[in-house]
Amino acid sequence: MNRTRECGIVRDLIPLHIDRAASESSERFIAEHLENCAECRKYLEETAGRLVIPAAAVDQAEERKSFKKFRKLINKKLIIAVVVTAAITLLLIGCIVIPSRVEIGVDPSEVDFRESDGRIAMSYSGEGDLRWRAWSIESEYGSKTLVVEFWQTLWDRYVSPIYDREEHIYYLGEADKVSVIFGIDGEVLWTNIPDSDAG
Ligand SMILES: [Zn+2]
Repeated sequence: MNRTRECGIVRDLIPLHIDRAASESSERFIAEHLENCAECRKYLEETAGRLVIPAAAVDQAEERKSFKKFRKLINKKLIIAVVVTAAITLLLIGCIVIPSRVEIGVDPSEVDFRESDGRIAMSYSGEGDLRWRAWSIESEYGSKTLVVEFWQTLWDRYVSPIYDREEHIYYLGEADKVSVIFGIDGEVLWTNIPDSDAG
């Protein structure tokens, strides 16, 4: 067998050799030839390289594809997280901010006035926290006359009773300095003029 013809046969067999599909006798023939033929050794290296590179390229393509899938999944999760966070934020705003801003009136007859340690104490028999403000007005009684306004927010009325069952007492100043307390509609809520009743 001349050199060129043997080279041709070996090169035909090289793909089988790379795939480990060549017979034992073929392998022996290839091994013997490669020992003595640098060109065929080079051909084997090149062929093996060509066969490996496309395989690697396929792997990379697969990797890129699955990475894209992964990124898509991450993006989807990120979008869902953002949407859920926004929804929760809006819900919190709806449940906390709005109820704490909307005010409702309180019937002053539900507020009990009494003197306690020289101070005017108010307690509310209705549900929740009470808000109030008081201001003094000129009056025929001479000493201080107060007008008190009461209100609650929706939060005070419906939410705070859930976690705060204590009775709240609010203090309106020193009793001996106040003669009359009026409600916002001019109704008398409390008086401190027993002497004038007696005399
Ligand atoms: Zn050869």
